[in-house]
Amino acid sequence: MSIFEMAKIPLQKAIEKMDLDAGVKKLMEQPERSMEVSIPVKMDDGRTEVFTGYRAQHSTAVGPAKGGIRFHPDVCLDEVKTLSFWMTCKCSVVGLPYGGGKGGITVDPSKLSEGELERLSRGYIQKIAAIIGEKLDVPAPDVNTNGKIMAWMVDEYEKIVGHAAPGVITGKPIIVGGSLGRTEATGRGVMLSVREACKKLNIDIKQATCAVQGFGNVGSWAAKLIYDLGAKIVAISDVHGAIYCEAGLNPYEAAEYLAKHKVLSGYPGSKDISNAELLTADVTILVPAALEMQITKENAEQIKAKIISEGANGPTTPDADDILAAKGVVIIPDILANAGGVTVSYFEWVQNLSGYYWSEEEVNDRQEKLLVKAFEDVYTTAKQYNTTMRIAAYIVALRKLKDAIKARGWC
Ligand code: NAD
Repeated sequence: MSIFEMAKIPLQKAIEKMDLDAGVKKLMEQPERSMEVSIPVKMDDGRTEVFTGYRAQHSTAVGPAKGGIRFHPDVCLDEVKTLSFWMTCKCSVVGLPYGGGKGGITVDPSKLSEGELERLSRGYIQKIAAIIGEKLDVPAPDVNTNGKIMAWMVDEYEKIVGHAAPGVITGKPIIVGGSLGRTEATGRGVMLSVREACKKLNIDIKQATCAVQGFGNVGSWAAKLIYDLGAKIVAISDVHGAIYCEAGLNPYEAAEYLAKHKVLSGYPGSKDISNAELLTADVTILVPAALEMQITKENAEQIKAKIISEGANGPTTPDADDILAAKGVVIIPDILANAGGVTVSYFEWVQNLSGYYWSEEEVNDRQEKLLVKAFEDVYTTAKQYNTTMRIAAYIVALRKLKDAIKARGWC
């Protein structure tokens, strides 16, 4: 089954619980537009390498498409389409005036020099410039892309259109129109979802333990902010492996250790474990914050966490979802748990369009209000329909999407 087919399973389950027009369902099942491009890049050794890039715009019913750009060897059209579908649903759950988009390049960026990476990033924008724009489709960072790459991309776009257009891309460095609070925004949203779930389940966060898979942007900030709430972070990992620390580790120090040593292994007081062991560790809270399809029917039965907050997009397969629901594990679904990033991206875009910039406190306060409200909407809907928070999140999203599609007269 393709990842897009898999992604549509909870959508279908939500539709079955709602009175949804067949036309709306069909519109949800395919992106409005997707594009595949070839990007020639002059390599440092004089060769020309040709990379494949993609951009998918799943829906613009509520507003411009919005979603990140991923650089990874596994990027393919099916994955980009799936991620754009999740973005439509994510923006709708939080109530942002955006549809969903996503892009990516099939590349292992660790094999490129800085100059090659810049030429690739600029080449990608040259190829997709015609279908992105401040009021059309607004990219952002995702796996293996960051503020520096966004700055090259916005610069390239502005050269093409011949004027400033900072709102075309979010997740930029502050100096070129980024927002305070954006870097940590997705992790902050994960933390808020964990905090709210603990309140509902009467779990004292100060007595809780937590494991985080993936110690990149999302995972490291989620770990730091959950640690700040008083929970004990006992395991973290990255692509090279995982570490376990029964007494708890300080994620701020672990981030410094990783920056210095390039691996987590050897962090003082920790022992090496596998990424598989991290997922099934005896913890209260599990945060998968790496890639898709990490929690599957093979390991779901062994998972001991009471709360899973999906920092990554699509980390749990539908089979695993059913197993975990039967075990009573509360999963805060990706389209809610990691919506903090796009929420602050939206704030960045608003600031860019108005040319007026907010304090970090204002960004964080507004983010918290929107995300806590979205959590409440999803939690209440789950109770109302006697279903999981994942299906409830799709019901919340579909209600708004249906209204926009009907209001526009698309069906
Ligand atoms: P990133 O590149 O900063 O970090 C990814 C981390 O995962 C790295 O530490 C990497 O080493 C690790 N990793 C990769 N493969 C792994 C594996 N097999 N096992 C364990 N760790 C592995 O990326 P990110 O921006 O933090 O994104 C992580 C996830 O969060 C992705 O699913 C992304 O789509 C999602 N997401 C990101 C944002 C955002 O604002 N950056 C927003 C919403 C969702």
